[in-house]
Amino acid sequence: MAFTTEVKDELARVTPSRRCCRMAELSALFHLEGALHLSGPHRLSLHTESENAAVARKMFSYLREIFIVSPELRVEKAPRLRGHNCYCLYLEGGERSTQIINELGLLDDSLRPVLGIPARITRRYCCGIAYLRGAFMGGGYVSRPEQPAHLEINVQHSEMAEGLRDLASRYGIEMNVARKKSLCSVYSKSRSDQADLLALLGAYDAVLRLQSDAVVRELRERVNRRVNSETANLERTVNAAQRQLHDIRVVAEGPGLAGLPPALREIAEIRLSHPEASLQELGEYLQPPLSKSAVYHRLLRIRRIASGTS
Ligand SMILES: [Zn+2]
Repeated sequence: MAFTTEVKDELARVTPSRRCCRMAELSALFHLEGALHLSGPHRLSLHTESENAAVARKMFSYLREIFIVSPELRVEKAPRLRGHNCYCLYLEGGERSTQIINELGLLDDSLRPVLGIPARITRRYCCGIAYLRGAFMGGGYVSRPEQPAHLEINVQHSEMAEGLRDLASRYGIEMNVARKKSLCSVYSKSRSDQADLLALLGAYDAVLRLQSDAVVRELRERVNRRVNSETANLERTVNAAQRQLHDIRVVAEGPGLAGLPPALREIAEIRLSHPEASLQELGEYLQPPLSKSAVYHRLLRIRRIASGTS
């Protein structure tokens, strides 16, 4: 199941206890998923399409509870969704429907469509959260935890996108507005803002998944960094050894190792017989053992002799 679907299912199970918040959530859902139709003179009907069964059920039960109406709920194959099921709600045209549509803030008092967030619906702090929850259930998308962080809510009008951005910032969550051809979206590419938003909306399982994945990712990066730095160390050791072997051969082919002071000849011979050893290991092969830095200085002296030779 897509992560977005899981998040929406989880949000569909969150039921605010206050009527004002249910109303705000429903308003957002209708705003994002609904379409108004003129079904006759002064007869407005409302039709919504949802890909998510749990979300459609929630809208159905809110409508019944708040407005005591029973919309028609139909499952249809939507060509738009490549033949997947689509859950449609129909609220038939009539005076009552027009009143509901107005109360939900979809139409203003002169029956003009409201393009942005109706201010009276989100005035209360609690209702703003509910509105964002409805908006996410209606048009939200969030990338899987292991993918690059992306969360967005797609809407039809820039007024709505800007409204959602401002509403989110009221709760300390930063989002941006993007305009595509005929659509708009508010989005965030910050995992921490996404986690804050989903926690605010009550999707705690989703937050846990995002965060545990972030922890795993961080651990993996740390291990990779360590492996890389050890690989780099190893490469440095091998390169240094290659250089030392080269110097020793230059001396051997030139003045000869026999002409070297005994301390240098000793280290040169040890290096030749242990080409892959680290400086510390070379020091341990000597009797008495030498420190890493003493080995380094002896090899440096050989280097100077070699470069004087060539
Ligand atoms: Zn409220």
